[in-house]
Amino acid sequence: MQRFRILPAVLALTVFAASAAFAQMSQPILGEDTTKISDHVWAIMGYPNIAIIVGGHATLVVDTGMGPKNGATVARVAAKLAPGNTKLFLTTTHFHPEHAAGEPGFPAGTILIRNAVQQQEMEKHGQEMMDMFAGRSAEMKGLLDGVKLRPPDITFNQEATIDLGGVTARLLWFGGAHTKGDELTWVEPDRTLVSGDVVQNKTMPNIYGDGGTPASWLAVLDKIAALNIAHVLPDHSAPGDGSLVKEEHDLISEIRTRALALKKQGISAADAGKQVSAALKAQHPDWPNTNAGAFVTSVYKEP
Ligand SMILES: [Zn+2]
Repeated sequence: MQRFRILPAVLALTVFAASAAFAQMSQPILGEDTTKISDHVWAIMGYPNIAIIVGGHATLVVDTGMGPKNGATVARVAAKLAPGNTKLFLTTTHFHPEHAAGEPGFPAGTILIRNAVQQQEMEKHGQEMMDMFAGRSAEMKGLLDGVKLRPPDITFNQEATIDLGGVTARLLWFGGAHTKGDELTWVEPDRTLVSGDVVQNKTMPNIYGDGGTPASWLAVLDKIAALNIAHVLPDHSAPGDGSLVKEEHDLISEIRTRALALKKQGISAADAGKQVSAALKAQHPDWPNTNAGAFVTSVYKEP
């Protein structure tokens, strides 16, 4: 009978651990601990997860953290992982401030590279997004205070390859998803994908502002599926294996199919959002959030 008395305690502990992990994922100060994802890829798990890819002579960092203080932390961790590397590359999964606004904290000589669509988006909406995040709390305002974003040293259209010494990072732009300029980093020979918001783990998809569309997101996932992926490091959820790509595709197509059917019946976007969210909650009781309202609205708006 002891078993039955232990069970609620275990459940409470699980819920506590999940909410503690969730709190860590939205807490904007990054720590210096790293988690090894694959042979050449480390991550600082936080808001957001940062990838550090270490080659024989150069290091690539993907995403900066919110503001220069976090950027400096990331650069320090990268230097500790590979003290002998003379070149530091920096790229960003998308233009939002927790991913890109830490750039001024990186040392002089850091080579900033991103795709052209993401750069255009940043020029158009970067300041507006920083102002929005700064309005969320005094802490975020402090982190983003006075941040000036510089233009990249290198921009590319569809793909750029960086030789880090025994490790190749392919930076890919496959089209719009969470934003227009979502960038993917494919690390060979690890077969590790740094996926940004495009492939996540037990997390609701979200298209912010005039980003991609549900249909373009699915097209991006079809292109990703052609890679032979062993490890995925998302930006706002736990790492996983290549099966996350199919799970993301299944999730988005399920929401989209359900939403389009409800739209055809003349149901409002708000009511459709509630119905789809309830269905997902029943299907995935362990997920921290199954609110599909915003994504259903994106489906309704699809041309
Ligand atoms: Zn974002």
